[in-house]
Amino acid sequence: MRRFPQLDGWAEVICGSMFSGKSEELMRRLRRAAIAGQRIVVVKPALDMRYEATKICSHDGRDWEAQCVQRADEILLLPGVEEADVVAIDEAQFLDEELPAVVRFLADRGKRVIVAALDQDFRGEPFGSVPAVLAMAEFVDKLQAICATCGAPASRTQRLIEGQPAGEHDPLVRVGGKESYEARCRRCHEVRRVDNMSMWEG
Ligand code: ZN
Repeated sequence: MRRFPQLDGWAEVICGSMFSGKSEELMRRLRRAAIAGQRIVVVKPALDMRYEATKICSHDGRDWEAQCVQRADEILLLPGVEEADVVAIDEAQFLDEELPAVVRFLADRGKRVIVAALDQDFRGEPFGSVPAVLAMAEFVDKLQAICATCGAPASRTQRLIEGQPAGEHDPLVRVGGKESYEARCRRCHEVRRVDNMSMWEG
């Protein structure tokens, strides 16, 4: 049986592809912490140049107030973080390489740190500093979506541009609507590879 001494912090990660329910799972955990009267701070990366509070939204329409940061180390300076019992970081794949150090700092100081993130980019490659957070976390849950092509469990995010698989050199895009991303399994996931010869010919 696990024991959770009150003063010990830890890190937990909720990862998976798009449409695997990461934000819903994050909010499920936050609601239970809130019911227990714990102090919660929710953070997400700013997707534009403004600093403002925003909401993390799940596909079932529920939301939670979040504070936006441009850089991972700004999390340590946010109001309420020093006193928080729980620090939740949503869309963490968009934060910089300081994220693992920030997570460690908070967990070492007794916080429960919950990180929700894509673990792979649209090419199926490890996404940013998320792998380092996965390695240091006490608990990892990898959620599965359902493959939009064959219905199998899906752990990859298919990027589509005008209905066609995106190329491996297309830049990473931060947010996509359903019309340009879907969940796919390993077998159905496609990345348009560009070989060197065709690049020269281009
Ligand atoms: Zn499939």
